[in-house]
Amino acid sequence: MMHVDCLCEVGREGSGAIGDRSVYLTFDDGPNPLFTPEILDVLAEQRVLATFFVIGAYALEHPDLIRRMVAEGHEVGNHTMTHPDMSKCGFAKVEREVFETNEAIMTACPQASVRYIRAPYGAWSEEVFTASHRAGLAAVHWSVDPRDWSRPGVDAIVDSVLASVRPGAIVLLHDGCPPDELRQCADASRRDQTVTALSRLIPALHDRGFVIRSLPQHR
Ligand SMILES: [Zn+2]
Repeated sequence: MMHVDCLCEVGREGSGAIGDRSVYLTFDDGPNPLFTPEILDVLAEQRVLATFFVIGAYALEHPDLIRRMVAEGHEVGNHTMTHPDMSKCGFAKVEREVFETNEAIMTACPQASVRYIRAPYGAWSEEVFTASHRAGLAAVHWSVDPRDWSRPGVDAIVDSVLASVRPGAIVLLHDGCPPDELRQCADASRRDQTVTALSRLIPALHDRGFVIRSLPQHR
């Protein structure tokens, strides 16, 4: 059962007035030296801000990409150090994954302020909520999942998002691969569908009157 503290959509209290058509694009499993710069380029060209839930080990390997995210105004969130299924981890491991990732992000970019966490696989548990709360992080799930990681085709990604998006929606996309899939991900085409879909999705959302934002400040 989803915890009440877990944000799946942004309500009106988070986004402002009635009639607000804000939607939120989020990217998991980076930073990745092949795909994250391409995603950042598309976001910059289309003047859109997003949230990146980064893997701490990758943040340490590619601090330049964390610095670029922050410099360009994006939100950087915590997606653990090693991307385990934390619902199967004991509290000590969960706490280490959460706190070390915050430290990794701050090491990569001292100007970053980490406000959000997304559990790998969306596998939340009481331990994850407790550790996140102690680390000052709000839990963020998603409401729209086009399963871009499975490479369903650019049209399928775009159509799936447009079919289910509504005001306050949090859209799940991927700019990298978890460590256990990194070998397949070395193939430069692995996230090409996400990059192309994003370049079509942003204008399509704008045409429908949506305003794309990074996640709002939580209380
Ligand atoms: Zn992930």
